[in-house]
Amino acid sequence: MHNFFSHEYITDRIIRVRDASFTAVYLVLGDHSAALIDTGIGIGSLRTYVEGTIGVNADVVILTHGHLDHANGAGEFSDVPIYLNPLDKALMRQHQDAKRQLTMVRQTHDYYHLDCPELKAEDVMDYLDPEATLPLEDEQEFDLGGVQLKAIHTPGHTMGMTMILIEGERFLLTGDGCGVGVLLVEDCCSTVSEYRQGLAKLEKYSSCYDHILRNHGTCVSSKELIPSVREVCEEILNGTDDRIPTSTVLESSSDVFQAKKTFPGTQNRVDGKQGNIIYALNKIR
Ligand SMILES: [Zn+2]
Repeated sequence: MHNFFSHEYITDRIIRVRDASFTAVYLVLGDHSAALIDTGIGIGSLRTYVEGTIGVNADVVILTHGHLDHANGAGEFSDVPIYLNPLDKALMRQHQDAKRQLTMVRQTHDYYHLDCPELKAEDVMDYLDPEATLPLEDEQEFDLGGVQLKAIHTPGHTMGMTMILIEGERFLLTGDGCGVGVLLVEDCCSTVSEYRQGLAKLEKYSSCYDHILRNHGTCVSSKELIPSVREVCEEILNGTDDRIPTSTVLESSSDVFQAKKTFPGTQNRVDGKQGNIIYALNKIR
């Protein structure tokens, strides 16, 4: 089987693993336990890579949300406790679609101008029944020994979207909950108005982290990302954003817009600020 994975150390305790869709998952290593945060798109054996190549056995798996590129690799870890906010269970099941997984892997290779390896049916890992997940609750803590994880429920990108504060290491992992192009387009996601409230909740944790980790693209942002995206929410709600017609791979029943103008072919905002929101017109309030 082709190896679809690569990894790098962010700190002594945090390892980023990229999968076939270049989506990142993270291993956090404590003194007595290790956590795997997200499981990737489920193409190729993540478990073989994590245990065989990196040499880490995850004691707990936390899914930031139910999208295919974050949760479809969970089936391989069915003997490990797997946590997901229950609001994303239906979405997780809906995204268990091999055709969609393979399409995303091909599309991301195209995006990065890379040759896509030949994909075979056996590369698609078995799915996890979302009912087998344990409920991930807001402010739930996981003590790994010398490093603690805290779940922060921030509905927006999905209703169950949960960011993970990696206390001790001073990182906030936003998942797809905040980034250079937060997608608020699917019918099942929250409105911009609700998303703004979720981001406001992060305020009380702002002294607990110095850096932001994400799961796509460069995977890193400064902590200014959060207030900057809150500002974008305000602009959308006030109707003062750039409102540029666009499209995404996610399904939407309404017209889709990009809030802030970017340089062509990049996600860099022309005004030099960080963060952006792609939203459907029926997802404002
Ligand atoms: Zn997502």
